[in-house]
Parts: sequence; C-alpha cells; structure tokens
Amino acid sequence: MTYFTSTALTAALAAVALPALAEGELNLYSARHYDTDERLYSDFTDATGITINRIEGKGDELLARMIAEGANSPADVLITVDTSRLARAKDSGVLQAVDSDLLEAKIPANLQDADNHWFGFSQRSRIIFYDKKAIENPPQTYADLADPAYKGQVCIRSSSNTYNQTLLAAIVTHEGEEAATEWAQGVVDNMARSPQGGDTDQLRSIVSGECGIAVSNTYYFARALRTEVDGVSAAIDRIGYVFPDQDGNGAHMNLSGAGVAANAPNRDNAVKFLEYLAADQAQEYFSAGNDEYPVVEGVALAPSVAQLGEFKADKVNLNEVAENLPVAQQIFNQVGWK
Ligand code: FE
Repeated sequence: MTYFTSTALTAALAAVALPALAEGELNLYSARHYDTDERLYSDFTDATGITINRIEGKGDELLARMIAEGANSPADVLITVDTSRLARAKDSGVLQAVDSDLLEAKIPANLQDADNHWFGFSQRSRIIFYDKKAIENPPQTYADLADPAYKGQVCIRSSSNTYNQTLLAAIVTHEGEEAATEWAQGVVDNMARSPQGGDTDQLRSIVSGECGIAVSNTYYFARALRTEVDGVSAAIDRIGYVFPDQDGNGAHMNLSGAGVAANAPNRDNAVKFLEYLAADQAQEYFSAGNDEYPVVEGVALAPSVAQLGEFKADKVNLNEVAENLPVAQQIFNQVGWK
C-alpha cells in the first residue's frame, strides 16, 4: 500500500504519477485518519490482489482537490466522515451513481444516498456526557441541553464542526426550523465556555471540572475506555453518559461513508471496494478498530462499544437531514453559536 499524509498531498500526487488506467489498482481519497483502518485496506488487497494507493487529507481538502482535478482526477473512491461532507461531495458533482444489489440490500435505506452517490458504512452516536460529581440529574434529551437548569454547564464544539451541523440538521428535520432555532439559542445560553477543541477535549473538560455536561461522539469515549487517552482515561469513572431521546426519536447517529468518484479510472475496483466495506469482516473492523457501530445488521460489536450498552438509534433518513444542512448553518449564524 502506498500511504501519504495530508501535508505531502501535492508532492505525493506528482511523485507517484498515478496511471489513468491501471489494472489491479485503486486510488482511495481518505479523510479517515485512523491507524486501525490499515487492516481494513490490507485485507482488501489480500483478498482481491488490488493495490490501494491511499491519498489522505482532511475531508474538505480532498473534496476541493477532486473538484480542482475535474475529469482528470485519479480518484476512484472518496471515503469521509459525516453526512454533510458526503452530501457536499454529491452536490459538487464529484461522485457517481453506483447500482449494486449488494449495497442496496445490506445498507439500510436511511443510510445511503437516494441516488446511490454515497453509502454509509459505519456510525457513531452523538451523545451526552456529564460529570457524575457535579450533575445529579443529567439531561435525558437533546432538548434538555437547552434547559435553563443547565446554565453555564454545557460544553460542545463549534458550529464549524460537521458533527454539530448534521446534529442540528437532524433536529430541524424532526422538530422544524423554529423549534431548532430555539434549541440552538438555549444551548448557546447554557454554554460553560465559548466552543473550542474537538470531541475528546469536551470529555477532558468534564475531567478538569470546567464543564458539567458535554456532547461527543461515542467513539472518542469508547477509545478512552479501550486505550490510554490523555486527560480522559485516568478519570473516566467520573464521566457518565446518556443516550438521548430514548423515549422519542432515539440518539443521533453520525455517519462515515464513501462513494465512487465521478471519473474513477478504476471503476470496477471502486465498486468492489465499496462492496467489501459492507462485508461482515470489514464491518467488524469499523467497530474493533475505531469503536464505531457497523451499519450492517447482526455484525458483532467490539467489547469497548458493546459495553456502552444497547440503545435506540435515530433512524431518520439522512437524505432529508442533508436537505436541512443549509438551514442549520443559518440557525448557527443567527444564534451566534461560534
Ligand atoms: Fe471524529
């Protein structure tokens, strides 16, 4: 496997001179930066003989690159995190429709693009964490995060974060624009500090005592259970968690997914790769390697994920959520969520 960091992106592309057409190769543009994904890719090569040339970068960077490369893009597959990025890739015209009976059958309809431009392969739940020492009655719903009872307690990252954009778009989908605006305003009013850092930093803020309540994707917490995460693992017993809206729509699920590039030079290999990602073994890797939830029914969860317990997941159709992303952005601006 060829492997490039985002900083070496331009140089790498020039250096490898990816062939326009190469039997047995796959050019993967990946915005997933998880070491454990290595195994996911090497197993595909072992099983198919197809070499993966991996170009790594940030999601937005890779998308910009594909747009700039246009018809000459060597990209075969784009794999990235969050519905908003997948939707943006589709809207930018850098993906193409894939008709695969296997993908159609294995991936739930609400987790794939209605026009087959992208497919979800793993999920993480975006849930509420809290300081067991400080918060006696933790929020049970997303709506509760806006309850004045929690004034000065809530920590959540900025509105430029795609996870939050999709969460708010899902709230717009369920509750409508007006209620979603009120909610966002209430969360801003409850913030313990101006939004800063990533999801792990929100968990750290509970341990440090700065925040009583925090919002994070589950995999950051599960990772801290499984392996040493600085500032979290040592005091993880202090952190409680709630899967929100269990009597309502269920906990919001963040998606990671992929699509075949519009001008994929190795289209057949690209489709094969997507089908491989939906196979049980790959689905297990998403959980075992990165503490995620597989999208395919019946696939075993890693112990670090299973120990979080069973919960009701929001089954909202992500096609509808994607349509509400622009409204979500407007709301963030309107309420001054930094
Ligand atoms: Fe993440």
